[in-house]
Amino acid sequence: MYSLDDTIAAISTPIGEGGIGIVRLTGPEARAILDRIFALGADPSQTELEPRVLHYGHIIDPASRQAIDEVLAVHMPAPKTYTRQDIVEIQGHGGIVALRGILSLCLRQGARLAEPGEFTARAFLNGRLDLAQAEAVLDVVQARTEVSLQAAIGQLAGSLSDQVRAVRASLMEALVYLEASLDFAEDEIPERGIGADMEQAVAHLSCLLEEAERGIIYRQGIRAAIVGRPNVGKSSLLNRLLRTSRAIVTSIPGTTRDTLEETVNLQGIPVVLVDTAGITDKSEDVIERLGIERSRAALSQSDLALLVLDASQPPTEADRAIASIMDGKPSVVVLNKIDLTDAVHRDVASILNAPAVHVSALTGTGIQDLEQTIVDTVFSGQVAAAEPPAVTSPRHKEALARALDHAQVALSAHREGLLADLVAIDLTAAVNALGEITGQTAGEDLVELIFSRFCVGK
Ligand code: GDP
Repeated sequence: MYSLDDTIAAISTPIGEGGIGIVRLTGPEARAILDRIFALGADPSQTELEPRVLHYGHIIDPASRQAIDEVLAVHMPAPKTYTRQDIVEIQGHGGIVALRGILSLCLRQGARLAEPGEFTARAFLNGRLDLAQAEAVLDVVQARTEVSLQAAIGQLAGSLSDQVRAVRASLMEALVYLEASLDFAEDEIPERGIGADMEQAVAHLSCLLEEAERGIIYRQGIRAAIVGRPNVGKSSLLNRLLRTSRAIVTSIPGTTRDTLEETVNLQGIPVVLVDTAGITDKSEDVIERLGIERSRAALSQSDLALLVLDASQPPTEADRAIASIMDGKPSVVVLNKIDLTDAVHRDVASILNAPAVHVSALTGTGIQDLEQTIVDTVFSGQVAAAEPPAVTSPRHKEALARALDHAQVALSAHREGLLADLVAIDLTAAVNALGEITGQTAGEDLVELIFSRFCVGK
C-alpha cells in the first residue's frame, strides 16, 4: 500500500514536445528539495518563496552548479492542497530532456518516483476526496464528450457521493436502532419507524440505478460495427458520419485493408465506429466467407451493428448471410444509395427485423435520421436525460445494485416481523456496499486497483 511519508515526484504533463511541462512533487520534503535546486531569478532582493505565487528562476544542480532549465516554480504549503501535503510544481520547457533533467535531479535530492495515480491516491487517503470523487478525476481527464465531462465534473463535486452518503446514513440509523433493540428491552428505547427509512433508501437506490445504464453509456461510449457486403457503401458511410475522409472510398471492392476505427460524438455519446476490413480475394465464395468472418469478428466486439445494404439493388445471398449472423445484437439497417433509386426494394428492408433508415452516404440524405436512430437504439427507446447522470461507472452500478438487493431483503424481513438480527445482517451488507462507492468500506486491493488505472503524475 502507498506510504504517505515519502516525497514523490513525477512529470505531470504528457510526454512529448510542448510549450511547457510540469514536474510535480508532494510530501514532507517537497519544499526543502525545491529550496536546494531552485535559484530565484531576476530580482536579487527577493530570496523568500511566497506560498502560492509563481516565481521565476532556474533549476540548478547543486552538485555540478549546472543550470538545467529556466522555469517558473510554485510551492503550496499543506494542508490546503490537492494532496493535503506540501506540493511543489516546477514549470519547465516542455521538452522531454529538460523535464527528465528536472525530475532526476528531484530524485537525486531524495524524492521517489510517483506510482500511477499516487497524487490522487494521497488526496483520497488524506480525506481531500472520497473514492468516487477520486475516480471522477480520471473521468474528467478522459471525457470524450461534453455530457461525459459534465457528469465527471458533477461526480468530482460530490453529486454521487452526497446521494450515496444520504442513503447510507438512513440505513445506518435503522441499523443503530435495530442493534439497540437487541441490547435493550423494548420500553427502554423510543419507538421508531425504521420501515420508512428503509423504504426511502430502496426508492432512492432504485432511482439511481435506473439512470446508471445511460450514465455508463455516456462515460464509456459504445462500439458500433459497420457491416455489409463489399461495395454497399460502408466506408462512405463511415466518412459521412465522421465528416472527414479518413477511410479510403473506392468503387473497387476490398481496398479498405485494415479495420478502421473512429470516434464520433452522437448527442453526447462517444460512438466508436468500426468499419469491417475489406476483402481482397476475387472469387465469389471466398469473398462471401471472408466478409462473414470479418463481420462476425467485428460484431463480437461491438455493442451495436449497422447493417449496410444497397437499396438500389435486390438483396443478395451475401446480404442475407451477413444479416443471419446478427444474433439478436442491437442493430440498425442502413438502406444506402437511395439517391440511385426512387423506390427501395421492399425485400431489402425485410432482411433484418430492426429499425431501418434510408440514407445516401454520397449526398448526406438521411444521415441525421440515422444518428437519431442509433441514439434511440442505444438507449433502447428511453429519452436522454436533461441532467448529466449521477452514476456513470459499472463499479458504482454494481455496488448500488448489491446495496439495493440487501436493502430490499432487509425491508421485507422487517415487514414480515423477522428477528431484528436477521434484518441487521442485510442492512449491514447494504451499508457496506454503499461504503465501497465512497471508499469508507473499500479494501486496499480495490483502492490500489482503482489508482493503478491512472497515469503517472496524476
Ligand atoms: P464498401 O466496400 O462497403 O466500404 O463501399 P464504399 O464506401 O467503398 O463504396 C462503394 C462504392 O459505392 C463507391 O464507388 C461509392 O462512391 C459508392 N457509394 C457509396 N455510397 C453511395 C451512395 O449513397 N450513393 C451512391 N450513388 N453511391 C454510393
